[in-house]
Amino acid sequence: MYDLIIIGGGPAGLSAGMYAGRASLKTLVIDKGLMGGQMQNTLEVENYPGIPQITGPELSEQMYQHMLAFGAEFKQAEIASVALTSDIKVVHLANKETLQSKAIIIASGAQPRYLGVPGEKEFAGRGVSYCATCDGAFFRGKNVVVVGGGDSAVEEGLFLTRYAESVTIIHRRESLRAQPILQERAFAHEKITFIWNTTVTEILGEQKVTAVSLQDVTSNTSKQLRADGIFIYVGFTPNTSYLKDSGLLDKGGYVVTNQNMQTEQRGVFAAGDVRATNLRQIVTAASDGAVAAMASYHYLDSL
Ligand code: FAD
Ligand code: NAP
Repeated sequence: MYDLIIIGGGPAGLSAGMYAGRASLKTLVIDKGLMGGQMQNTLEVENYPGIPQITGPELSEQMYQHMLAFGAEFKQAEIASVALTSDIKVVHLANKETLQSKAIIIASGAQPRYLGVPGEKEFAGRGVSYCATCDGAFFRGKNVVVVGGGDSAVEEGLFLTRYAESVTIIHRRESLRAQPILQERAFAHEKITFIWNTTVTEILGEQKVTAVSLQDVTSNTSKQLRADGIFIYVGFTPNTSYLKDSGLLDKGGYVVTNQNMQTEQRGVFAAGDVRATNLRQIVTAASDGAVAAMASYHYLDSL
């Protein structure tokens, strides 16, 4: 029996694990993949306070080692379902193993959303990508398009200029959602051009992607654009399918908490991107994790 099980080993889960271990709680962090979460797919992090520049995998490793040093355990496994209504929380793993704890922190983050157009599934891994850090180097000297107007699209578009001959960012509106500093860098970059008020309606190719079909949403006209690759950054979906009947989710599937990261359910807390919140960053995930761990500590102390 653990005092605390933390679902997810991204920055929220690792920070929560570090605080909980330091508070002497018997703590287990479970992640179905590598520890670090989305940080593993981020080449450069330059907005984590006190660390001007670090790669995502390096920051993941440092957070992981920091957590282990305070005694929290890590297990690689997928959570299939949870039973949260009793005082003893039960976690069912996909491998049929069952674990128990007195408190739970949900820190299962989010994953890239699909565009949902013809060709997307067919050409996945053959020109369609959701990770410039992973796949960018395959597009050296090529022409790529990036879909989206948020931080991810612009930041990853900038990253792709290291390899690609040209990067065309296609956005459905005429202004970007991305942070001003990223916008300024993209507008100033000679390899980057923008196509505004336009959606991608189909991804075309034979063995690999060769073009995308575009629709101008203001004039309703269509055209094709030659492209060797398409990087899709149209937002994220919370990883909460294992919580679908929990009553803890909002309409978008995010976990609702108060400012102490406490959900409606006693002994159940949430932290990071999985939470209904306005800012989703490494620093906010880490901060949420710290608050959730200390709230768990006070809850366990009150039992
Ligand atoms: P995540 O990082 O999503 O981690 C959740 C973890 O839960 C994952 O490891 C996942 O495997 C695990 N999990 C999910 N479901 C299950 C399950 N059923 N069973 C077991 N494990 C499960 N933020 C910044 O501050 N600076 C940046 O420069 C920056 N760059 C970014 C670049 C990109 C391309 C992306 C996509 C995001 C970037 N972000 C950046 C955002 C930042 O990475 C996220 O806000 C942060 O990682 C969220 O942390 P988290 O711990 O809440 O969730
Ligand atoms: P996001 O902020 O949700 O932006 C998604 C973008 O995709 C928006 O521009 C949206 O258009 C567009 N879009 C959504 N659905 C679409 C569709 N079906 N077709 C075409 N376009 C579509 O997602 P994100 O950029 O991935 O960022 C997610 C979170 O991670 C944010 O909190 C972000 O701040 C954080 N992040 C931070 C950094 C950093 O700090 N350096 C880097 C990356 C990500 P509209 O604008 O019209 O809605």
